[in-house]
Amino acid sequence: MSHLLFATAPLDRAHHLRRDLTIINRLRSGPEVRVVSYWRDLSLLRDGRALLACGTEAAQLLDLASETIFLGLLAGKPVFAADVNTLRAEADGAPPQWENGASWGELRAIGATLSAEDGAILATGRALVNWHRTAKFCGRCGSPTESREGGHVRVCLDIACNAQHYPRTDNAVIMQVTDGDNILLHRQPSWPAGMWSVLAGFVEPGETLEQAVIRETHEETGIIVDDIRYAGSQPWPFPASLMVGFTARAIGGQLCPDLHELEDARWFSRADIAADFSDAHRNTDAGPYLARPGSIARQMIDAWLKG
Ligand SMILES: [Zn+2]
Repeated sequence: MSHLLFATAPLDRAHHLRRDLTIINRLRSGPEVRVVSYWRDLSLLRDGRALLACGTEAAQLLDLASETIFLGLLAGKPVFAADVNTLRAEADGAPPQWENGASWGELRAIGATLSAEDGAILATGRALVNWHRTAKFCGRCGSPTESREGGHVRVCLDIACNAQHYPRTDNAVIMQVTDGDNILLHRQPSWPAGMWSVLAGFVEPGETLEQAVIRETHEETGIIVDDIRYAGSQPWPFPASLMVGFTARAIGGQLCPDLHELEDARWFSRADIAADFSDAHRNTDAGPYLARPGSIARQMIDAWLKG
């Protein structure tokens, strides 16, 4: 089984260093600095790995950056994320060329090809870069905000307001609903043909995670669940989710998919999945396949398949 993408923790987040601007500046301009870079929704890669630029290349990327964020220490070396969104696209609209065979990749698409460590570092940087792009103005008074604490807080520049804004993480539940030897899978209209996965949905204000599992399952499929148990979590920075996994047991209701939200929902037995589903069907019209390896959805389905 592949590792759960973005879920390892290679960085020491070194929270204690964030508050001291002198230390942050010294780390950023020091000889050990490593820099991961983002342009639009793309991350900079080289030789199939996350590009952790060092030396002159790191300094160039930091100079170009509209925002830099201290992600933490990797084996003692400071790692910063650089938002180089101001780089111009090439004349044909392609991403800007970077030096020495570097290329740009979309993390959601390439995550499974990266090492667990590279994927986790790029995901952390991407979540923070995205947040800074959308938090430039105070949600309370509308004044500009400024990055502080190494990029982990933005503070409103209106002295009377002075609100502190923290990076968002939107909680979503994802649930493996089973009934004896059957698992409830569904399809979204926006998904590639053939792909099936477990149900998921965002937690609403005033709701517990378990209540969200019950509500979303019932709203989307008509099925009533109970016996809800935590089954792990996965950062999903597209743009800012935390997927919280649960198992749940169907105890009633009638399967009646809400076609405003879903394309289809069905019960499948282990034998159905073994007979019909294959990862080889991905990117073909040959038949059904499960959510991509490395996702918590797939991890939960695989765990259930193994009994
Ligand atoms: Zn304000």
